[in-house]
Amino acid sequence: MKTLLGLTASPGICSGKAYVFKAPDLSYDPSSIEDAETEKNRLDEAFRISFEELARIKDTLSGNLGDEYGHIFRAQMTVLEDDDFKREIIGKLDESPCRAETAVEETYKMYAGLFSQMDDSSYNAQRLADLNDVCKRVLRNLLGKEEVNLSTLPPESIVVAEELLPSDTAMMDRKHIQGFVTERGGLTSHVAILAKSLSLPAAVGTAEIMRQAKKNDFIVLDVRNFEEARIYINPGAVKQRELEIHKSEYRKWQENFLKMKDLEAVTLDGKKITLSANIGSLDDLANAQDLGAKSVGLFRTEFLFLKGDLPREDEQYEVYAEAAKKLAGGMLIIRTLDIGGDKEVKALNLRKEENPFLGLRGIRLCFKYEELFLVQLRALLRAAVHGDIRIMFPMISSLREFRKAGELVTKAAEELKSAGIKHRPDPPMGVMVETPAAVFLADELTREAGFVSIGTNDLTQYILSVDRGNEELGSYYRAFSPAVLRAIGITARAAEKNGKWTGICGELASNPLAIPVLIGLGVTELSVTASALPQTIAQIRGLDSGLCRKIAEKAVSMDTEEDVKAYLKIEISPLPGGTPQVYPFP
Ligand code: PEP
Ligand code: MG
Repeated sequence: MKTLLGLTASPGICSGKAYVFKAPDLSYDPSSIEDAETEKNRLDEAFRISFEELARIKDTLSGNLGDEYGHIFRAQMTVLEDDDFKREIIGKLDESPCRAETAVEETYKMYAGLFSQMDDSSYNAQRLADLNDVCKRVLRNLLGKEEVNLSTLPPESIVVAEELLPSDTAMMDRKHIQGFVTERGGLTSHVAILAKSLSLPAAVGTAEIMRQAKKNDFIVLDVRNFEEARIYINPGAVKQRELEIHKSEYRKWQENFLKMKDLEAVTLDGKKITLSANIGSLDDLANAQDLGAKSVGLFRTEFLFLKGDLPREDEQYEVYAEAAKKLAGGMLIIRTLDIGGDKEVKALNLRKEENPFLGLRGIRLCFKYEELFLVQLRALLRAAVHGDIRIMFPMISSLREFRKAGELVTKAAEELKSAGIKHRPDPPMGVMVETPAAVFLADELTREAGFVSIGTNDLTQYILSVDRGNEELGSYYRAFSPAVLRAIGITARAAEKNGKWTGICGELASNPLAIPVLIGLGVTELSVTASALPQTIAQIRGLDSGLCRKIAEKAVSMDTEEDVKAYLKIEISPLPGGTPQVYPFP
């Protein structure tokens, strides 16, 4: 047995077989060439296998997620059926002796050159992205390498990877995954957020996992501790039995809180807190509702865009309307597209940036691709007739940006009006406070915005200038720094002065040590990861808001994060609303 340590990204305990997710090495020696006939036969065979693989993925995805996802792969199958494409490759083999791999790569380059001369519409970008995927698939099959893909996992899989990007996980087979272990990724990386929203145990920052875990190794992922994850590779029978006992105890401990899930989130002295869930899909919403969610404080819509084709207005409308109907009048805050940073949308084929987190991200990207934004806004306004939909804009760093976003909402409403389409023209609009500029402009912003929700994941990253996804910088990513807490206080005070409410939708809202401080700073809405809902209700019901205020005042006046955390651990744990999300792990 080997034991590795990682950082807790999402709590729980599970076991399963390692599914090692690693892109195959596609390098080859271009000078070792067979005769042209042999190369053509190899090409035929690689096309045949590639076609079969795509057909299999398409069928599985259509069955699991619906035909619209199967379609993405149908488009790639069409590339393989296209006679011109294959003729080009064979032409290269006839022209001069080369390997089939070289001919495929040359043909791709030629097409990519042609595409670059066309307009940069999202349609062309999507076609080129499909062609790129297909060529890589054919190349891999020419080299006889096995496919690695998260969309069709074997049952009971624990995915082991160096890094998982949102675009990798968007297609993931959710039926068969038990948990994740990654080498890279910080605590608020999107893979950590995804794991929490699916209530899947996950560890990030696990050095060596790729070297130590082999395909089909039996893995127990023990993430009961809030700070440290333990990963057991091939544990012996005695250890396995011990872990099985922990698993069932943990389940019982969680079930205790489930009894609380429909109670109101109100403090001992009667202060009501709006407790909402963070979601990225309708599946997440169903999971959150099972855990007691009555409202949504953050719908990360970009997850609808990471799966392949850009969703059309009608497709988006269906999803937003369905979510609003399911919430039956409960608040639904939908965040407009927050692409960029670590969230790459292949279909847009965006230029690689030196500093993606400081780059064309969130609202900035929406202003650049105005039609993409308008499609989403029209879908949102149409869906808003079905419930309490509120629109929230990410990465706002000036009042001008908020106003411009509002103007585009008006434009979308006018387009719908002139087309005679039913919609709500004026849903409430809010700002996500996740840049230091938005904190310092909170007064100006909350005079005009309907509400603010603080994205502490990014706010911490930008206040402390530390990449949230870099596990090596974990000790610099200090969400409890007095600097971050003071920023939250500044925002909440400004909003209150202007008669608006402040929510928190970053991961800090799900942290039991932070909750009393946030309430004490004047936050009245907490939007948490689904798995934290029942415990958060339990915690809020044990707190006194006056005491929370005193705790918050003391915490923000401290010098260092270490002082804040040490103080909170002593001050909060013995309270009735103590720290219930922390499992009493030895
Ligand atoms: C945040 O930044 O805190 C947030 C909630 O948004 P995301 O994690 O999607 O960037
Ligand atoms: Mg953010």
